[in-house]
Formats: sequence, structure tokens, C-alpha cells
Amino acid sequence: MTFVITRPCCNDASCVSVCPVNCIHPTPEEPEFRTAEMLYIDPETCIDCGACVDACPVGAIFPDDELAEEDEPYLRLNADYYLDHEVDAGEPKPVRTPKLPEGEVHVAVVGAGPAAFYATEELVRHPSVHVDMFDRLPTPYGLVRAGVAPDHSATKSVERTFSSTARKKNFQYCLGVTVGEDITHDELTERYHAVVYASGASTDKRLGVDGESLPGSVAATDFVAWYNGHPDHADDAFDFSSARAVIVGNGNVALDVARILLTDPDDLASTDIAEHALDALRSSAVREVVILGRRSIADGAYTNSEFLSMRLVDGVDVVIDADDLELGDELARQVSEGSVDSTIGSKVRLAREYADHGAQGADKRFVFRYLTAPTRILGEDRVTGVRVVRNTFDADAGRIVPTEETSDIATGLVIRSIGYRGVAVDGLPFDDAAGVVPNDAGRVVGDDGVHVPGHYVAGWLKRGASGGIGTNRFCGQETASSLIADIIAGSLPAPTGSRDDVAGLLASRGVEPIDSTGWAAIDKAERDAGRASGRPRRKIVTVDGLRAAAGG
Ligand code: NAP
Repeated sequence: MTFVITRPCCNDASCVSVCPVNCIHPTPEEPEFRTAEMLYIDPETCIDCGACVDACPVGAIFPDDELAEEDEPYLRLNADYYLDHEVDAGEPKPVRTPKLPEGEVHVAVVGAGPAAFYATEELVRHPSVHVDMFDRLPTPYGLVRAGVAPDHSATKSVERTFSSTARKKNFQYCLGVTVGEDITHDELTERYHAVVYASGASTDKRLGVDGESLPGSVAATDFVAWYNGHPDHADDAFDFSSARAVIVGNGNVALDVARILLTDPDDLASTDIAEHALDALRSSAVREVVILGRRSIADGAYTNSEFLSMRLVDGVDVVIDADDLELGDELARQVSEGSVDSTIGSKVRLAREYADHGAQGADKRFVFRYLTAPTRILGEDRVTGVRVVRNTFDADAGRIVPTEETSDIATGLVIRSIGYRGVAVDGLPFDDAAGVVPNDAGRVVGDDGVHVPGHYVAGWLKRGASGGIGTNRFCGQETASSLIADIIAGSLPAPTGSRDDVAGLLASRGVEPIDSTGWAAIDKAERDAGRASGRPRRKIVTVDGLRAAAGG
């Protein structure tokens, strides 16, 4: 028997360090780890001890003989990784906690999402390091709360890891505080030895085509925030009167959005989707969602596990036209010889399976189109369609190029899902082209190329908007390790003030931070309200409502 990792895998590698035979790869030490879609168990090496099951924060690991039918393809997905990856099945490397000099160190962490928490987890291992975590919302967990799709409840259980960090004595929440408004960057640096910015990538990338700003053309970042009950988007409205919606981009966010658009609202009603979104989706006329990828099936930006799970949405067919499966000569040769990278090979295999399977007569459908890029969003007063161009391979140039072939897709709703983008933070340098704060292993690097003492970044603001939740674990740990090394080297600037007056300073501005007790009260209120209607929680979607629930 072997254990098998399935879709909710968060890549945070909690399982790797507990495996006695090192059969879970890629490990954080292996180069593939940074880009791995998920982790995989080697069926040849697994000794069936189950240690990984207990360590997995999201319940993604099962014994092969207990796999649900829909998870059976993961047996092959796990095994296939080992066809083209040489792995070291030696002992996992022990983690050592370095000893710090005497004296308390005070760190402000800005943001309360995964990267913030993973960095904090490393910092608060040291009892002398005290972390105050700021977030502009009254709730923690960043994109785990406001980004992960409501139907992916297993993924959200990673919150348990974060809440155990938040229970440490040397940690406190300062939620509902906007750094840059309620307290400035300089006021933080005066009061803390170090400030770690992990405030994410809060805006969307732009397509740069005509018609992009027409009503009916919306950013996936906004749509996701809306259905997840983010207070900034509680009053948004989307027009679902068209039978077809078009999503531009084929990353995991595009797939999340597509599923939410077509999943039966009665099924969504058992999730933590925002009530306003559920109500609006109940009267949706959308029956077809077209997902546009500008490159080939081999370049789908989604992970295989998410692509695989599209077939599990009840009452929705997955449609791929065999003509869209063009790969280009070189890749086609590698695929037919079986010499292609296993992740790409699986992508191609799954797409071909969908194409072969065909539509099964469901009244709703996901239509995946490849080598198809938007050139214009059509409409006068609002969106009526998308003009697309067919792309093809240019073997000489080694890239995709547009052909002369264009066509129009009629739709009233275009969702641009082409990635998130970081925004500049007051007081920090910013690389506008990349949408990140320049840094060296999390140490902020100024325009002169020198580390700005006491300034750090983690997560999407540090490396751009890529990678799932677990990717942030190593990103956050790297930043924390840099900070810890700087404590040991004595290179952190001594604060001129004290963190003790932060509460007073905020109070003088009429801002009452929400602490762990306040968040616990919000959490309880939401869970209680959810229980009454058979849901994990019923989210409170306004800042005033959240503050009231916090008891403040
Ligand atoms: P993403 O993975 O970067 O995908 C962006 C997509 O937009 C790609 O298909 C890209 O195509 C396309 N695109 C970019 N510019 C375009 C343009 N001008 N015209 C047409 N298409 C364009 O971004 P994402 O989906 O927002 O996800 C962000 C990160 O969060 C990813 O790492 C993702 O895996 C992660 N995430 C994970 C989960 C999960 O694990 N379940 C869920 C949600 C998000 P090209 O590839 O050709 O550039």
C-alpha cells in the first residue's frame, strides 16, 4: 500500500519533515520545489506509516485503498513524478533553531495572510522575538479567507496552522489598522526593531486591449473578493444575465471563477460563500463559461490537480475541441516519445482525455480554448462580446505568434483573470515593472542596492503573485531567517520609541485595534450563524459588522 497526495495539497511540506523514508518530493531543498504544482509520494518507497497524514494541515493525503473514486487519478499523478525525477531517499535534514543574543526584539508584521504567518511562525519560535501583526481588515488570513474558493474548504483548514502561531505568548494581533493611514511606516520603524511587509498583491494586471473598461468587463481579483465576502467588495454587482461568460487567462484563479459561476448554488450553499454572492448566483443565466488560454494546452497556468477537478462539478461538461490540442513540433515529438516533463505530460494527457470524452449532454459547460487571445472587448455602452485571434507556433522564433484568423465570441460578461499585481508601499522602494519590492532573500534593497536595515518583505509583495499557499511557507521562512541572521549579527537599528504606545497612538486617532479576543468573537459569531444554516461559517461582510461582532 502507498499513501497518495490529492488536490488540496498546499505544498507547505509539513509532511516532508515527518516522513521517515523521505518518500515525499520535491523537498524544500530540491530545486523543483519552488515551482512544483504539488508534492508527490513515491509509491515504491512509501512504507505506509501514515505520519504524513497526521502532519498534513489540509487533509490531502489518503491511503491508496481508501481513495475516493474521484481521487483515483492522483495515484498516477503521484507515481508519474518519479518517472522523470531522480530523488534522494535519504534522511530528511533536521531543522536547527539558532540561538539569539539577550534582549527582546520587537517586530511589526504588516499583513495577516499566509506569508505573514509563515514568517511569524519562524520568528515567534524565539521567545525573545515579539510580533505585532497588523492588517487593515478586522479579520486575519488574507487570501485564505478572501481568495481560496469557497468550495475548497479543505484548503482553508491551513488556518489551523496559523491560529496555533497566533496563540503564542509573544504574538499579538492589531487587526483593523491600516498601515500608511492609521499609523505611518515611519511611526512603525520608530517603535519596532524590524518591519516585515507581507501585504500581498492587491490589484489586477491589465490586458491593455480596447474595451477593457466597459461595464461587464471585470477583474477576477474583484470577483473573487466579492464571492468571498471581502468588505471592500460587498456592494459590488455583476451582471449574470448572459448565457455565456468568458474568462481571459487560464490560471487557477480562472478555474476557481469558472467553477463558482457554474456550480449549482444549492451545492455552494453548504460552503462559506458570501450570502450576497449566493443570492446573485441563484438567478444567474450563465450556462457556459469559456476559458481562454493564449498559449497551448501544455502551457495552461492551472495546476493539474485543479484541471482534473473540473470534471467533478455536477451537471457541467468539460469541453475541449481536439483542434485546439496543437502542441508545436518539438513538444509533440517529446510527448509522443514520452520524454516530456511529467507535469507537462500530465497536462497534455488530461486535456486529451477531456477532448476524447466530449460533452455528455449536461446543460452547463466549461469550454477550454487554447492558442486564443483577446484583441478587443466589444460593445458600446457595455460588453457584448470579445474579439479573439488564433495564435500559432513560430518554430524559428521559439514562441507563440498571432495568425490572421480572428473571430468574435458573444458574451455579456468578461472576467479578466490574468494575475494579481503588487502595489507600492509608502516608505519602501518599488519595482513598478515587476510589481514587487526589490529585496535580497526578503531584505528590502534600496535604490542604492544596499539593504535598508530593519525592512523586510515576504509573500507576493516580495516575489510576485505566483504559487499556492505552501509556497509562502518557504518564502516567509526565508525572510524570517534573514531577519534572525540580522538579529544575531546585531545589524537591526534600535527603535527610538516603544511599541507600548502603539495602542495609545491609535486610540488618539479613533482607531481601536482588534486583538485575538476580538477575532475569536468574530470567528465564533460567523461559525454560529453558519451552523444554523448548515454552513461552516456565514461571513460578516462589512467592517462595521465585523467590529460589532468583535465586541468593540
Ligand atoms: P497565473 O497563474 O499567473 O495565471 C495568469 C493567466 O493569465 C495565465 O494563463 C497567463 O497566460 C494569462 N495572461 C497573462 N497576461 C495575459 C494577457 N495579456 N492576455 C491573455 N492572457 C494573459 O495567475 P492566477 O490564476 O491569478 O493565480 C495566481 C497564483 O495563485 C498562481 O500561482 C496560482 O497557482 C495560485 N492559486 C492557486 C490556487 C490553488 O492552488 N487552488 C487557487 C488560486 C490561485 P501566460 O501563461 O501565457 O502568461
